[in-house]
Amino acid sequence: MQERVLSLSTPLTVLKGIGPKKAEALSIDGLSTIDQLLHYYPRKYLDRTTLTLLSKLSGGQNVNVIGTIQSIKMRKGKFKYFLESIIYDGYGYLTLRWFNGAKYIKKALKIGDKLAVSGKVEFYNGYQIIHPDFEKLKEDEDPINTGSIIPIYPLTSNLKNNGIDSRFLRRIIKTIKKSSISINDHFEKNFLLETNLIELKRALNDIHFAKSLIDLNRAIERLKFDEHFFLQLYLAFKNQKNLKIKSKPCFQNSKFDKKIIEALSFELTEAQHRAHTQIKNSLTNSSPMNCLLQGDVGSGKTIVSILASSIAVESNFQVAVMAPTEILARQHLKSFKKEFDPLKITCALLTGGMARKERDKIIESLNNGKIDLVIGTHALIQKDVKFKKLGLVIIDEQHRFGVNQRRKLVEKGNNPHFLAMTATPIPRTLAITLYGDMDLCIIDEMPKNRKPVITKVIDENRLKRVYDFMAKEVVLGRQCMIVYPLVEETEKSDLIAATEMYEELSKNEFSNLEVGLIHGKMEKTEKDSIMNNFSANNINILISTTVIEVGIDVPNSTIMLIEHAERFGLTQLHQLRGRVGRGKNKSFCILVRRSFSENAKKRLNIMEETNDGFVIADEDLKIRGPGEFFGIRQSGYLSFKIANMKTDGSLIQKARKLAKEIIKHDSNLEGRKNIELKNKLYKTYKQNLNEKIIS
Ligand code: ADP
Ligand code: MG
Repeated sequence: MQERVLSLSTPLTVLKGIGPKKAEALSIDGLSTIDQLLHYYPRKYLDRTTLTLLSKLSGGQNVNVIGTIQSIKMRKGKFKYFLESIIYDGYGYLTLRWFNGAKYIKKALKIGDKLAVSGKVEFYNGYQIIHPDFEKLKEDEDPINTGSIIPIYPLTSNLKNNGIDSRFLRRIIKTIKKSSISINDHFEKNFLLETNLIELKRALNDIHFAKSLIDLNRAIERLKFDEHFFLQLYLAFKNQKNLKIKSKPCFQNSKFDKKIIEALSFELTEAQHRAHTQIKNSLTNSSPMNCLLQGDVGSGKTIVSILASSIAVESNFQVAVMAPTEILARQHLKSFKKEFDPLKITCALLTGGMARKERDKIIESLNNGKIDLVIGTHALIQKDVKFKKLGLVIIDEQHRFGVNQRRKLVEKGNNPHFLAMTATPIPRTLAITLYGDMDLCIIDEMPKNRKPVITKVIDENRLKRVYDFMAKEVVLGRQCMIVYPLVEETEKSDLIAATEMYEELSKNEFSNLEVGLIHGKMEKTEKDSIMNNFSANNINILISTTVIEVGIDVPNSTIMLIEHAERFGLTQLHQLRGRVGRGKNKSFCILVRRSFSENAKKRLNIMEETNDGFVIADEDLKIRGPGEFFGIRQSGYLSFKIANMKTDGSLIQKARKLAKEIIKHDSNLEGRKNIELKNKLYKTYKQNLNEKIIS
């Protein structure tokens, strides 16, 4: 047969073995061209190092094995028929059993078939695996004796139902490999040499059919790099468009910050000092600062933002601080005024609930420059709020705000410096990518007087004891919080509602105590009054939905009880836990687990094991994936095929550095050697490049 010259855009239908039916099935899973198929990476590989001989089995192990079917028959069990097959690999035997789908599987298998099998080995009249994951292999596919590496592909039910299995895909990809195919590398030879990466053509071959594990790993590295690189190139490309900024507020070196530090009733931690120095350097630097200050709940970010503000004010600029809730804004005002009053810096509050007259007065004073620093909620971004000379914008709990809200505030100044703060620790690899345009500033140390909160996961039946414990703490003058996931029983869910429990607990267990209820559907004034009462210790036990998650600082509270803890994300639980342990007394976080799934158990145990927000964020990322982590799908940024945000740290750094360098020298990617990169960039991030993006 005549050899066809294939290219990456050739449709799969030209390949032998792919008729209309199979082509249709493949295209449903996004596989229509050779390019797409070559980028359909295996989910695992069978090779000598990952396979276990059947003579070396032991119970409880998860194994990959290969064997040939010696017998296969339906057998009658106690209740119904099941399928049993025995395989042999020249060294030992293993029994496979299927209780579900037995008939269907029997049809697919016959004596003499060679199988790759994986699953958990159990001992039951000899070794067995129940419902193993299995793949048919060809007669000559033999990793153990030949040292070959066999790719196993991910298969959707659509593919399986249309007779497409790993063996089929291996055969098709081998056909491609045998014909001559031209694959252009979007990287130049020199670039590959300098970065120590292999060619694309070789990588696309070896990712499927590597001769050795070393070759395979180099292929994986190259393909991972490509994904990271184009994401970083995209970020660098889009960010420099935002960075072409003309002027910036000019801050001089200052004395206010030193004075504030000297007057503090505590010593700054090393990490706070570092953060302050870094921010101070950026503020007095050549371009406007764009900084994300990350630090665990209670790590003391507020004082760092106060110091930054003092530098702006000393240089005769105004500062705007935006917080997500009124409660938090008021609390910040208190903290800022404490340090700023002695320096005669004028601070004001601006919130939505204010009286008209009062509001107008503040707006006027911002306009004529009588107010140096304003703290507020979303009320700050209203149209009629104008500044005389806004030089620094600070946003607390920045993940609570949308991109547009942040921009609106920033646009009230002439390229002001920008400081965002967050207590949601974002794994570093993710942060680099999602906030690639921002400088990261991390406070990774707690004030010394902090005692770690003791965390316990309990079942419902121990709740009574916890209530007793709470009552005892109240007798000692302390306060407690109980958090429920929902306000009321929506959609017939079986969640215990905060309101119901409030009624029950205040009548029974806590009938002698002051119990308060706060939830998101309350009027603002009502919420404020309850929070004020809690702060003043007029309420002993506060029952709440997650509205208290953000910000509040009541150092007298020592117990945080979280109901249906498995319903929360780990980072959210960590934030809630951060509401206690702020004072001098030993504090506790009690997580009530009402689900008995293994997953819930595993996740909640992490909370018992660590108080480190970054570790928790990493675990959350691992369990929930990056999209979930941010509550939204990041429009494809993170839908990598092979790259991994969590484990590819150094590769990300490398990709980021190279991408930035390329953009620095050729900001529009117009140079001849960068044309290929530009094409690929537009192909990959077409959608995103069309939106108007701001940082
Ligand atoms: P967060 O980082 O969660 O915003 P805050 O800035 O609200 O934390 O700080 C929490 C509490 O810790 C505040 O009461 C603050 O005054 C106090 N604090 C901050 N830094 C220190 C420190 N270095 N030593 C002792 N207490 C500190
Ligand atoms: Mg804070």
